[in-house]
Amino acid sequence: MEREIVYQKNRVEIVRVTPHLYFRRGDMPARRQSNGAFLVSGEVVATVDATTMEAAEEMLQEAVEVFGHPLRYVFLTHGDGDHVAGLPVFLEQPLTIFCSHRLLGQVVPQGYDGPAAFMGIEGVQTLWLGGLEVELSTVPIAAHSPRDLLIRVVQDGCVVAGDTGVSLDHLYFHAADPVEWARLLREIDARGGSAILPGHGDIYPWSHWKEITDFIDLLVQAGNACLEGLSEEEVSALDDDRATQLAGGYLAGPGASAGTIRDTAGASAERELRMVIQALVRKRTGHTA
Ligand SMILES: [Zn+2]
Repeated sequence: MEREIVYQKNRVEIVRVTPHLYFRRGDMPARRQSNGAFLVSGEVVATVDATTMEAAEEMLQEAVEVFGHPLRYVFLTHGDGDHVAGLPVFLEQPLTIFCSHRLLGQVVPQGYDGPAAFMGIEGVQTLWLGGLEVELSTVPIAAHSPRDLLIRVVQDGCVVAGDTGVSLDHLYFHAADPVEWARLLREIDARGGSAILPGHGDIYPWSHWKEITDFIDLLVQAGNACLEGLSEEEVSALDDDRATQLAGGYLAGPGASAGTIRDTAGASAERELRMVIQALVRKRTGHTA
């Protein structure tokens, strides 16, 4: 679908998805900026994520330049560096910052006394931005991370997904619970909707939830197969090297699943499977990331 690009500067593009929702396409390779978004309703402008210091400065300007009003709200999809590194810029501004309650400890500086206000979200909460209904929801256990926040623009059926809805070669399971992640995506998918705005990749149709779910399921099956012959001691002692070796061994094998993982994730295949193995080990040993 051809969508209107309403702004183009600094290797950033702002693309209109609906009259209330805009995708901010960052340039990760060149400028270390992951994707963000703008939600706009009347005089209210909100943005998603603070990817770098430069990006946060740019977003303050873009709000005024493109949407005609200063930025008022910020939503943080999770706490990975490429989504919150620009937060110090926003802490100097009279903004209200929404994030998962589990992220507050990481993003609110000790003794912070600046102009920004923080709101921790737990479960599902509805927010009215001007006349726009926005549903914020946290994850019960973990998806991409335990600190994920999903932002749904209700009337448009669009979700700003952060890294829960990314491209298939960029899933990163470093703090994930892959089984929970897939379960959550099945729930979101079943509810129906139109577009997904991811932290990495491009604007996706709703069917992308199923693609991610199927791929995570496949990685979990492969990860469990890798761990099958191991004793309990070997599982709890599993380090990076051993996990990489297991993943590499599996992917070099002749199985159809190994081929599908290689074809889907390309150069990231070994990393994705290694991280899933490690996530499954964390789950079994009760360690949290
Ligand atoms: Zn990211």
